[in-house]
Amino acid sequence: MPESRTIQCDIKRFMSHFTDVSQIGSTADGGVNRPFGSEADLQLRAWLIQRIGDAGLQVKVDAIGNIWGVMAGSDPLPAIILGSHHDSVPFGGRFDGPVGVLAALEVVQTLQEAGYRNRRPLGIVSFTAEEPNPFDISTMGSRTVAGRLTAQQLLAARDGNDRSLELAIAQAGGDLRKLSGIRKTDQDLFAFLELHIEQGRRLESAGVAVGVVTGICGIYRELVSVTGEANHAGTTRLTDRRDALLAGSELTLGVERLLLDRLSWRSRAANNREENAPAAISRDSPEEELIATVGRFTIAPNAPNIIPGQCDFTVEIRGASSSAIHSFAAEFGTLAKRIGAARGVQISRRVILDQAPEAMDGTVTDTLRAAAAAMHIPCCDLFSMAGHDATHIASFTKAGMLFVPSIGGKSHCKEEETRMDDIASALAILLETTLRLDGLDIDA
Ligand SMILES: [Zn+2]
Repeated sequence: MPESRTIQCDIKRFMSHFTDVSQIGSTADGGVNRPFGSEADLQLRAWLIQRIGDAGLQVKVDAIGNIWGVMAGSDPLPAIILGSHHDSVPFGGRFDGPVGVLAALEVVQTLQEAGYRNRRPLGIVSFTAEEPNPFDISTMGSRTVAGRLTAQQLLAARDGNDRSLELAIAQAGGDLRKLSGIRKTDQDLFAFLELHIEQGRRLESAGVAVGVVTGICGIYRELVSVTGEANHAGTTRLTDRRDALLAGSELTLGVERLLLDRLSWRSRAANNREENAPAAISRDSPEEELIATVGRFTIAPNAPNIIPGQCDFTVEIRGASSSAIHSFAAEFGTLAKRIGAARGVQISRRVILDQAPEAMDGTVTDTLRAAAAAMHIPCCDLFSMAGHDATHIASFTKAGMLFVPSIGGKSHCKEEETRMDDIASALAILLETTLRLDGLDIDA
């Protein structure tokens, strides 16, 4: 593949684009505040549409507001698309999302300018509303394209100020009344590549420039409601109390206890195996990753002289396999029954999200690794415990992700940062991977 040796991305141009984009929605302290539906989101959309057009690509905004830019291929084949998202969490950092969109633009523009004759259509995408937003639907653009959100769900969504999602999408250039043709299949997309910051510190600790993502975790969330009895904080004897907060607290610590038990069970199992077969051990085999969090917790009436009668909280479980996630949820359920009975409180549980893990495609990950090896760029495999647009695209076609290190593991904050040298390495791998995938003679 001689072309790949002579065509090179321009990291200086990437940096100049990145500087422009970082100013849209920038905060005084060096972060960005660019949630979906904000003025900054709309400004960045206009910037992207302009730049994609300038790069000679055909621009299209679909019904959910995803921005696409495509250069036609010589053969009637499904496309290779690179991309990510451009929105941010409230008061987040500059790198989460735009790095992937601007890398996509850089790779495709470089190939376009080099006069590369692509067989497959090549393009970029910036997905709508990947991050949490006032409409409570994250990864909105990629989920819609994957057919995982219905028109009904989208049309019913409103923010806290009773603004309809329909209006916000219209302002972003989409149209929720025209969703019928939006769903994509492997006949439209041959492969999807997403570059993203790691948002952890494993790559930094390992001292490598890039990570090839093997899979993206499943995410399960439930709402737990504990109903006890509100009563006088002075006159009610300890034995007469049905304190919802104490039950909720015991359950919250119980989540941690279950995780710790799992950890010690795993390390005991690993030790045992180590004695027998030292070479076969991987103590942090990604398949075994599982974590759980109580992230929102409220009590009522929340007054200093009243025993809490009500306690509501969320339990989020993330893991590499649905069966591990569900078995942890079942263990939590057993604990809830026991604590509910012991404390005389009612505990009800409602699942609000149950998103399966997705493996990244073997052909794409092999190609990413081979491209890195061909360019002597050190890389390693990683499993993602953060959700990404690629999760949903992987449900219908070949998807792959490349991670670049986050300095100090910081993300979703103004300190979020990645070295430009690492991004330059990622650009080289993405370009080489795109060329190799374009040359592959296999059907979608
Ligand atoms: Zn992101």
